[in-house]
Amino acid sequence: MDTQVGIVGAGPAGLLLAHLLRLQGIESVVLEARSREYVEARVRAGVLEQGTVDLLVEAGVGDRLRREGLVHHGLELRFDGQGHRIDLSDLTGGRAITVYGQQEVVKDLIAARLDAGGELLFEVEDVTLHDLEGEEPAVRFRRDGADHELRCAFVAGCDGFHGVCREAIPAGTLSVFEREYPFAWLGILAEVAPSSEELIYCYHERGFALHSMRSPRLTRLYLQCAPDEEIDAWPDARIWEELRTRLATGGGWTLGEGPIVEKGITPMRSFVVEPLRHGRLFLAGDSAHIVPPTGAKGLNLAVADVRVLSDALGRWFAGGDPSGLDAYSDTCLRRVWRVQHFSWWMTSMLHRFPGDDPFDGRLQRSQLRYVSSSRAAATTLAENYVGLELV
Ligand SMILES: Cc1cc2nc3c(=O)[nH]c(=O)nc-3n(C[C@H](O)[C@H](O)[C@H](O)COP(=O)(O)OP(=O)(O)OC[C@H]3O[C@@H](n4cnc5c(N)ncnc54)[C@H](O)[C@@H]3O)c2cc1C
Repeated sequence: MDTQVGIVGAGPAGLLLAHLLRLQGIESVVLEARSREYVEARVRAGVLEQGTVDLLVEAGVGDRLRREGLVHHGLELRFDGQGHRIDLSDLTGGRAITVYGQQEVVKDLIAARLDAGGELLFEVEDVTLHDLEGEEPAVRFRRDGADHELRCAFVAGCDGFHGVCREAIPAGTLSVFEREYPFAWLGILAEVAPSSEELIYCYHERGFALHSMRSPRLTRLYLQCAPDEEIDAWPDARIWEELRTRLATGGGWTLGEGPIVEKGITPMRSFVVEPLRHGRLFLAGDSAHIVPPTGAKGLNLAVADVRVLSDALGRWFAGGDPSGLDAYSDTCLRRVWRVQHFSWWMTSMLHRFPGDDPFDGRLQRSQLRYVSSSRAAATTLAENYVGLELV
């Protein structure tokens, strides 16, 4: 089997890369460890930056997103029982975010891939990478009990944080930058209309809470919890009680409750490897970097990487110009570190840290009051949240 680009992983990064390459006439094969049903049902991100939406629409995979996505022009910071609206669009010259589930993006990209007759192989096993430093690297894998080898000009490692591509790079080649946070997020998806039209980021003595949504009938809610928390310790009634307590306001607002259809605990981590390239292997998305979800950036960063990578590969295949590929890592890392900082800043402002004393709490409240009352400070949050055009 031969192709121009071997892509490992059919998450947002791998699928979008395959699509953007096809638009330039570049062939690829996408290898995915899980089944189609599994990846299409995996509930994760849901906040798309303006630039992510624009790219999906321009690339012809944004029709349903435009029909069903919920465009938000603001968000709420809630602390001390009071809400403070950040007008994202007013502060950023009209830019906005769109709430549209990651699994919906994945479904749209899979449909586009299969409609175009592109190669997308699910349930592959034992993926290994070879000859990355040569001119014709290979990806070996097993499928339906048989061994296969894919020869290609380049390999894109889009296989997420737990994938094999990053691990295929020889030890000592990559620099690793990492921070673990001493808390996690307990997330639920509930069949109930959202209780607010916009996202609510809530700072509370008992810990952070987030009110979000996936559709007019599905609410997504998160609670800060201990990193080693067991999900079994959180029966539904306890989750709702804790959410009601943290999100409570001085007057009038009530949290709608409904059947919980999904729940899970996500650890919080910041992680970056440098560089994002080794020979003919290019890492993109979560395989190269993880951000804590407070800034809603992981999916958007994966999209930003593959936009740069598809352009660079396009230039190489069009006329052998290596400049885009040579600059890939540095170009992407500038945005990666801006986003790392923003995600860390939002996380630090909104969460309770074990061992925090009243001094820390006063600093956090002061920061929240400043962001909610100063146009300059609010603009910093807004322009990062909707996504910076240039970094
Ligand atoms: C609970 C939660 C909430 C989040 N909320 C947000 C948010 O609001 N906004 C945001 O922007 N981001 C958010 N994120 C982050 C976002 O989901 C990720 O950043 C995004 O999925 C990255 O896309 P990716 O394609 O790089 O990786 P992934 O989506 O992880 O895709 C990697 C793919 O590779 C496959 N794979 C793995 N190993 C192999 C292998 N050996 N062989 C073949 N295939 C393999 C996997 O099955 C997977 O399909 C959230 C994440 C979580 C967990």
